[in-house]
Amino acid sequence: MATIYLNKKNLFKNLQKISLINPNILAVIKDNAYGHGIITISKLLKEFGIKKVCVRSNQEAEIIKGFFEEILIFNPTTGRNGTNISYAINSLKQLKKNRHPYIHLKFDTGMHRNGILIEEIDEIFEIILKKNFEIRGVFTHFCCSEEENCDTFIQYEKFKNIKNIIENFCEKNSLKKPYFHIANSTALNKLPDTFDYVRPGIAIYGGIEGYEPVMSLVGNVVSVREIENDGVGYNKNFFSKEKVILSTVDVGYADGIPYFKNGCKLKDTQAVGKISMDYMSVLGEFKKEVVIFDDVKEFVKNFDTITYDILVKMSPRIKRVVIE
Ligand SMILES: *Cc1c(COP(=O)(O)O)cnc(C)c1O
Repeated sequence: MATIYLNKKNLFKNLQKISLINPNILAVIKDNAYGHGIITISKLLKEFGIKKVCVRSNQEAEIIKGFFEEILIFNPTTGRNGTNISYAINSLKQLKKNRHPYIHLKFDTGMHRNGILIEEIDEIFEIILKKNFEIRGVFTHFCCSEEENCDTFIQYEKFKNIKNIIENFCEKNSLKKPYFHIANSTALNKLPDTFDYVRPGIAIYGGIEGYEPVMSLVGNVVSVREIENDGVGYNKNFFSKEKVILSTVDVGYADGIPYFKNGCKLKDTQAVGKISMDYMSVLGEFKKEVVIFDDVKEFVKNFDTITYDILVKMSPRIKRVVIE
């Protein structure tokens, strides 16, 4: 079977680069650490000195609860949980049902996917006081931070206003001040102020420009053959008049590679024809291994999708190996 190599040097370089912007990193490791492997990545983040992370679900938090000082669950259940676990509050309705005391309030400042509305703030405050919830953090999420437009700044200004309101509320009621966080990866360099913590995901894994790739996917050669005036694979979508040597590699769409019908550019060669469930055919004679990709920013150009989508779908069955 194929192997996923995780480049520790590059991971640490990315974290170092983010640290220069703001050393307080709330690292996003949701969805199996963007497909990299949540346990392996958690160990490495801990080694680097990361103390706080964000995950998607209670189930993910459970797996890594021993590693960090605080784990923020983006989409939590309503039940109580441990003291190092925080629940994101995505709506007034959710807050009403919530029973876990440590929360981060998420505000909708423009993305309109989820988050509390500013008009709901008085009711939110009332519930927090009544139920003795501790506001550990306050955040919002950008809709368009990878673009050059003004949405980001409108959201930023709204968030600053929310920060004032929350701080006044806490002061008035002698509550501990929460910390504020707003910056996802593509906002890291764009804001006048990143507040107390930054909240990057894809930058950590090197899935955007300016950061080093962490994941490589390498397949094993299972056989080599020659064809002439013939085709290869389902429907013989690749056909060669001339004699060509082809290597069959043990990686297919069941491993998470997006489906392709007519080849795909790899690191040192190219796949031809249709990808199979567990195999693909590549041009040339390879003895042992074929690098499918060692930088997802290049590999993604084969497909009509984004780097996140490719990384996150890498099968958890593939062995993860850290290279020092
Ligand atoms: C996924 C996510 C992030 C990280 O986004 P990137 O674009 O990967 O940096 C940050 N905040 C929230 C709320 C998210 O859902």
